Amino acid sequence: MPGMMMQSQLTLTEVMRHAQANFADSEIVSITADNPQHRYTYSEAFERSAQLAHALQKLGAAPGDRIGTLAWNDYRHFELYYATSCSGLVCHTINPRLFPEQITYIVEHAEDRWLFIDPMFVPLLEALADRLGTVRGYVILTDSDHMPDTSLPDVHCYEELLALQPTRFDWPQLDESTAAALCYTSGTTGNPKGVLYSHRAMLLHTYGVLLPDVFALQSHDAVLPVVPMFHVNAWAIPYAVPVVGAKLVLPGPRMGCGETLTRLMQREKVTIAAGVPTVWLALLKYLRENDDTIASLDRVVVGGSACPWSIMEEFEQRHGVYTHHAWGMTEMSPLGTFNPRVAGSVPAGEARSLRLKQGRAAFGVEMRIVDEQGQSLPRDGVAYGALQVRGPWVCERYYRADESALTADGWFDTGDVATIDARGYLGITDRTKDVIKSGGEWISSIELENFAMTLDGVSEAAVIGIAHEKWAERPLLLVVPKPGADLDTGAILAAFGGQVAKWWIPDDCILVGELPHTATGKISKRDLREQLADYRWPAEADV
Ligand code: AMP
Repeated sequence: MPGMMMQSQLTLTEVMRHAQANFADSEIVSITADNPQHRYTYSEAFERSAQLAHALQKLGAAPGDRIGTLAWNDYRHFELYYATSCSGLVCHTINPRLFPEQITYIVEHAEDRWLFIDPMFVPLLEALADRLGTVRGYVILTDSDHMPDTSLPDVHCYEELLALQPTRFDWPQLDESTAAALCYTSGTTGNPKGVLYSHRAMLLHTYGVLLPDVFALQSHDAVLPVVPMFHVNAWAIPYAVPVVGAKLVLPGPRMGCGETLTRLMQREKVTIAAGVPTVWLALLKYLRENDDTIASLDRVVVGGSACPWSIMEEFEQRHGVYTHHAWGMTEMSPLGTFNPRVAGSVPAGEARSLRLKQGRAAFGVEMRIVDEQGQSLPRDGVAYGALQVRGPWVCERYYRADESALTADGWFDTGDVATIDARGYLGITDRTKDVIKSGGEWISSIELENFAMTLDGVSEAAVIGIAHEKWAERPLLLVVPKPGADLDTGAILAAFGGQVAKWWIPDDCILVGELPHTATGKISKRDLREQLADYRWPAEADV
């Protein structure tokens, strides 16, 4: 028997409507290149989203078109999120840190129609434009005073496009299964893969993010996403914050700068901030060296890579800030688990080991660990296996892929290896996917190995991630020389220059007599990681 409740669709348009109706005066504060201290209200933001939706229609954008963005966290990017998704277009956020070849691949694969780009990415796009066949034109995210000279074809100025457009838009009644956003991940082997989020998934995920034992946002919070808006929709913060009417603080291009973050947080009285460990190291270093603190800051959320205890300890002891450890992935919108505040009554040692875990599944996410035969393993905190998930905000199929991304029995294999204890706490112990995460961004071991194998005198090559104080992980290259070859490790590393992004180049190279192999003849990364457990970087690498 069907239920008898309204069939309202779960769409992001409802977030916008709700925020406009209830929190018109709440603020969005941003740093941008052309306007270092921009401040306006939700009401103005959504009026401008309406203007942008009109402008997109005039540009000929049709429902389902992918609109690409190469932009930092600021108010114009926020307007794009809503103008595109709520008018039936797909907001395709692109990571500008990727190597040009990858950006070209992603834009072509997504068949983006228009690219909205920050002025600093104009030279990057000028070099690629000839190859971007599906792109009809470019919109530079700035005003007419700051428009750069450019050879880009069909180029528009964002503020000129918006000017004179009506501030109301007749938002379409979208079905909740309509695609809202697209984000490519390099966190698996092969070419980057697109995860196509639906409105329904985004909205349910937003509820998950807001739960009391998750981000627990409230209207009096001031929220700073230091995670980029091109990385899984900045962990859904631009959707969650307007639901509760909190202040949204957007750091613009200098989000890795401790001083910028400190000033912004102090000025805007930020209460909660979220980002990968590397940004917190930069912030803590700045605060330590300048004997400063951020009085308003109550808690930070750390995810994307394992959070070291030193970060939690320094935040708490020097600044009275609680650190929540979280785990997720692009394919999960990204929320998977969240480590709630541990009660004060829990003994210190126990609290520490609990907090170093990645936390408990948010309601909406189901998790299991399995052995190599796909059999479920016990949730005893000891047994470890491949971590699989399912739920309404988990990817079922990659964009334009013929095959499902799920196991035969309907689970998504995360490529992570983990334990789960009896209370549901997840502990990530390893990774089966052959990738390295440096400062929150992926590096493909396989691509580095493939290039190393093209060098004279190299018989076999392997790249593994080694823990790094600043970047969480950095790539280490191991090379087996051909018999009689006289290889120079410095020359091997130098050969990577111009072949891969600079920050992908391994920080060290070791010549070895042989590499460990599995029974099927593949290099055993697990054994290699074990063999190199005591390896230490020659000097603090900086990229
Ligand atoms: P991404 O899709 O780029 O967000 O990366 C997701 C992957 O990052 C996960 O599958 C993990 O391998 C890794 N990851 C994310 N959060 C954590 C964490 N808290 N601890 C350890 N690894 C993490």
